[in-house]
Amino acid sequence: MSFFKKLSETVLDTASTIGSKSADLVETGKLKLQRNQLENSIKDKKTAIGDLVYEAQKKGSDLSIEDLAPLFAEIKDLESQIEAVDEKLRKENPQDQRPVTPPLSSSVPQENNPGATVFCSQCGQELPATAKFCNKCGQPQ
Ligand SMILES: [Zn+2]
Repeated sequence: MSFFKKLSETVLDTASTIGSKSADLVETGKLKLQRNQLENSIKDKKTAIGDLVYEAQKKGSDLSIEDLAPLFAEIKDLESQIEAVDEKLRKENPQDQRPVTPPLSSSVPQENNPGATVFCSQCGQELPATAKFCNKCGQPQ
């Protein structure tokens, strides 16, 4: 299957190019670029698998799982490379793991102030601002 052989060679070229550069890739931007390239390579390989399956189906020829195994292996290899890149990115940018949005409570200053109080609308009892019921008469607040 010459189409597949050619595809494999292209894949190997790409993989070795990325591999030889990896030592220099210390900047986040480069790591992210490398990650995108790896993801694109995986997409290409998944497309190639789909093409092979489709062509075989169209021609009514048998396509065994062994024919696709090298592509599966290459995808797995690329995925492990992405994991390695992710690991480097985590080391370079530990702050990336924090939530992007601040916790909700910081935008509700009243709840952060333990001294804030309200008075019961029924009996006038002084209550914490966060109280849902009056602790004297039970009136919902
Ligand atoms: Zn009350």
